[in-house]
Order: sequence, then structure tokens, then C-alpha cells
Amino acid sequence: MKGRFAPSPTGYIHLGNVWIVLLSYLSTRQQQGTYVVRIEDIDLQRSKRDYGEALLDDLEWLGFDWDEGPRVGGPQLSYWQSERLHLYDEVLQSLGDRALTYPCFCNRTRVQSIASAPHRGEIVHHYDGHCRHLTISEVEKRMEEKVPSYRVKVETGTFYFDDIYQGEQCYTLQGGIDDFVLRRGDGMYAYNLAVVIDDIQMGITEVVRGQDLLDTTPQQLYLYNLLGAVSPRYSHAPLLIDSDGHRLSKRQQSITIRELRALQWEPNRILGELAMLAGLIQPSSNPRISLDELLERSINTELLKQKSIIVDGVF
Ligand SMILES: [Zn+2]
Repeated sequence: MKGRFAPSPTGYIHLGNVWIVLLSYLSTRQQQGTYVVRIEDIDLQRSKRDYGEALLDDLEWLGFDWDEGPRVGGPQLSYWQSERLHLYDEVLQSLGDRALTYPCFCNRTRVQSIASAPHRGEIVHHYDGHCRHLTISEVEKRMEEKVPSYRVKVETGTFYFDDIYQGEQCYTLQGGIDDFVLRRGDGMYAYNLAVVIDDIQMGITEVVRGQDLLDTTPQQLYLYNLLGAVSPRYSHAPLLIDSDGHRLSKRQQSITIRELRALQWEPNRILGELAMLAGLIQPSSNPRISLDELLERSINTELLKQKSIIVDGVF
């Protein structure tokens, strides 16, 4: 098997990241799998190379190692998404050749005005298939005025998958309404496209990531089908939040590994606090444990069925 950690370098690595790397690393190593690190710096505006390097420094400081990725190499030409854009180009082109995509000229205001439904506490903006049936001459005319985004033509269908932590999931995608963007008008590739292409090419068979990405899974499964590839197994881990319900990664003062290092925290203590949340060690006032010791223990997946875990007052 093959597992991976695929962070976005938009800031210093924080506890939410370490939580995911810990769970994915232990799962892969305990199955004698190959562990891959990939830097998802596809958002060229928000990502910084320096943050990517700092992130790798912090992973090494914490004691993690990987078999493929930046600094160690591997069969892929690059493990930075910003250096893999030609691969996304090729796949988008091939989907276009199969008439599975179409250009969308709608602006943000129009898309946001489409009736949207609150879904699991968040407002989800659906599409209405507006540009699905434009004629060739209409497309040519609009191309002169605007660079379109590209959407995939979704065929209505239901997707089931068994999430290792969250249990059985069922989603229905509807043609038109759920036609999702693969490349934005500004040229940026969508997360859904890049992540699927990378995971296929890197041979990833198990994806451990945050619960916030659970709802993107059906789109990704849809792309796996279109590309004739087998999807990985998914484990969506609870988000770490403070007692006000803010995600540690999103709140203003997210706790970064840099800050904890400055406060003289050692890797064993950071890992110990997180390991406690996954039931790897018994609650204690001063937990410390090394990665090697953690490899001998099992994750309590019952604890990871939750949507979120409050970690206030720990760090
Ligand atoms: Zn449109």
C-alpha cells in the first residue's frame, strides 16, 4: 500500500497538519507501506516555496521520514504541484477531447446568485448547467471576451464509499447542478483535479485527511471513474478545534510548530499530546512519546468517528 501527506504551503505547519501527518504516517508504516510527501502549492497566489521548505524542516524536526517526495526524490519528476501543471493540462485536454468538459463563462456573481442550500452547516453553491449547451458559435464569440473556466459534464449518479473513520457515506451528484470546475478562468487548476491526477500517478492507495474535505470526495470519485482508475481508501479525521469551535488552522493565532519550538516544546511532547487524542496513549498530565514507540500501538478509530475534537488548553 501507499499513503501520503499532501499539505499546502500557505503558512508555517500547525498542529492541525501534524495531526494528519501523524495519523497517515502511522497507518502507512504499520502496514509496511510506502510513504509519500507531496506539496500542494497549486494556488500560486497563496503558496510560497519558503513555507514549503519550512514545512519539510518541521516534519524532519518532528522525526517523520518519507520514501518519496521533496528532498528524497522518487519516480515522479516533481513532488511540488506547481511543477506538475503540464500533467493537469494533458488530462484536462484528454477529457475535453472526449467531450466530457465544457467552457463556462459565468462570473462569480452569477454563480453565487444561483439558489444555494446549506449543507452540513456550510453554504454550498451549486451550478445550474447554464453554459452546458452553448453552441460552437456562441462559445467562439464569448471566447473573444473572456477566458472561461472549464467544468466537467457530470452524469447523475450515486456514490457510496466506506470511510475508515467516518463510516459509510452516500452522495448523489446531479448533472448540470453538480458540474464542477476543473480549471478556473484565471488558469488555476481545481484541487479536485490536481489531487486525483497526483494520487493516481503516485499510486496512492490510502488517503488520510481532514474531515473538512469529506464533501469533496464524491467529485474525486467521479474523476477516478472518468479516468478509469481505482480510487484509494479514505480516512477523514476529525478537525482539531478550540472551545469556541474555531479550527486551529483557521483561527488568527493558530499554533505553529515554530511557535512551540520557540517555547521549548520537544517533538516527543507534541506527538504525545496528539497521540492521546487518537487513543494511542493513556491520558496523562505530561505525555511524551517517540514516533518509534507509537508505531507499536494501535489507533482507536472509535475516537476518530467524531467530526471534531476540542483541544483547548493543551497547547
Ligand atoms: Zn457558466
